[in-house]
Amino acid sequence: MSRWRTYSPREIEALGRSAPPLTEAVERVCPACGKKAVRRYLYDHDGPRRVAMSYVWCANCRRYASSTGPPLHPDFEFDDPGEKSAELRALRDKDLMALLDHLDALWDSGVLPQTFTPKR
Ligand SMILES: [Zn+2]
Repeated sequence: MSRWRTYSPREIEALGRSAPPLTEAVERVCPACGKKAVRRYLYDHDGPRRVAMSYVWCANCRRYASSTGPPLHPDFEFDDPGEKSAELRALRDKDLMALLDHLDALWDSGVLPQTFTPKR
């Protein structure tokens, strides 16, 4: 399998502009290769400060980007496969390339995408 490469800053900007709402669990068009194959995974990371970690990657050209943001839990109920998988939790902490392989496989097997439900 080929290696994962980061999106360029310009591609990351384009991804930001085209980001669908969290409640829309769909693949979107990749700014690098043009295929509708961009997937995402988010979770709340408990550290000194609670932050949302977000990963987007293209299943076709294997580019990726990650970012952090405000925690998701106050606003959404959502499923995090990391809660049930020690393997996924371990990869999140230490092996980005293996994490991306794993997330892509989870999407192919139907564990991802996640379902986000706004809290009232
Ligand atoms: Zn692509």
